[in-house]
Amino acid sequence: MTTQHIVKTVVALPGEGIGLEVVGATCDLLTGAGLPITIVTPPQGAAAVKSHGSPLPDETKRAARSADGVLFGAAGPASSAVVSWLRWEMSAWGGVRPITFYPGMRSPLADPEGIDYVIVRENSEGIYPGREGDLADLARVMPDLGDRSGRTVKEYGEGSFAVKVVTPVGAERIARLACRLARARQARGKPGKVTCVTKSNVLPRSDGLFRETAERVMAEAGGLQFEHFYVDDAARRLVRFPRTMDVVLCMNQYADILSDLGAETAGGLGLAPSGCFGDGWAYFESVHGSAPDIAGRGIANPTATIRSAAMMLDHMGLVAEAQRLETAVRRVYRDGKTLTPDQGGAATTDEMARAVLAAYRHA
Ligand code: NAD
Repeated sequence: MTTQHIVKTVVALPGEGIGLEVVGATCDLLTGAGLPITIVTPPQGAAAVKSHGSPLPDETKRAARSADGVLFGAAGPASSAVVSWLRWEMSAWGGVRPITFYPGMRSPLADPEGIDYVIVRENSEGIYPGREGDLADLARVMPDLGDRSGRTVKEYGEGSFAVKVVTPVGAERIARLACRLARARQARGKPGKVTCVTKSNVLPRSDGLFRETAERVMAEAGGLQFEHFYVDDAARRLVRFPRTMDVVLCMNQYADILSDLGAETAGGLGLAPSGCFGDGWAYFESVHGSAPDIAGRGIANPTATIRSAAMMLDHMGLVAEAQRLETAVRRVYRDGKTLTPDQGGAATTDEMARAVLAAYRHA
């Protein structure tokens, strides 16, 4: 008896810039791989502004909501509304960003072998999405708000402010996600450790709440190691001791910065995938942006988007296919013949994606 997969629907939203190139190449790869999926590309971005008067028309939102998988490319000025909706309006509060080195990836480190950890990003709170205003307005409603040296807001005179938000609910759910991931990795032989990153020495109420909540959740969970580093120290450790990391739990902006740093240590920004998870909602995107400096030249590395697609397949229940795709990526790096210029090669985006497809077929 043969097992027949039910065909699932994937909505692909390229965003803009290199997003168009890497999502196009990845969709061709997924189609060529004969996966039991149908890929639809509803209007979005600059083209949708022209045709529908909005970068994200209602029909696109409906399609994404009802899809089995959503793959996003990269946002830039013309498509920031797309990622705002995917991440913030749909409350994809948990970012999962694997940092993995495969032999053949162009790491700047002398010894990158064995780098394999996950950055868990609190996606919905912290200093993002921006809540900003004029200092004069803040001084009117909170005239006595002062820093630890006693300097009040009104003493600054003219200027702007941004608000950092941490809630027990937001901190607890992301800490629980970090625990679940650490346990799942522990079952595969990883150390079972969560490293929490804050700046609670300087921000004891906001970052302190995040840290205390993570500590409590970890103590309740039991069976996992827990450590905490201040963000500046954590940045240094990700470069110097990346192999000691397993699951790195970060507040929103710290994860934004540290995941670019981590991606670079493992070989480059063009290699780093991510999944963003909410309650009954998920979408998948590369960590990188629209890269206007190389957009339109067909040389963007498609790896981050291909690996994000692998995470999406896993989430959709196509677990064996996801692993096979990841193995195919690993093989292309090991062979080293069809890599894009960021990895020292001369391949185009499409050529590299086709090499991954060939490796997938032979896996
Ligand atoms: P970026 O990530 O677009 O690019 C940073 C550098 O990395 C550039 O030199 C670029 O050429 C290189 N790079 C990125 N992806 C690559 C790939 N796949 N292959 C080879 N090289 C790659 O960051 P930026 O230049 O600071 O921002 C450009 C735009 O992207 C901005 O509008 C920013 O807001 C947006 N952005 C969006 C996201 C997102 O969609 N999640 C993330 C970061 C930045």
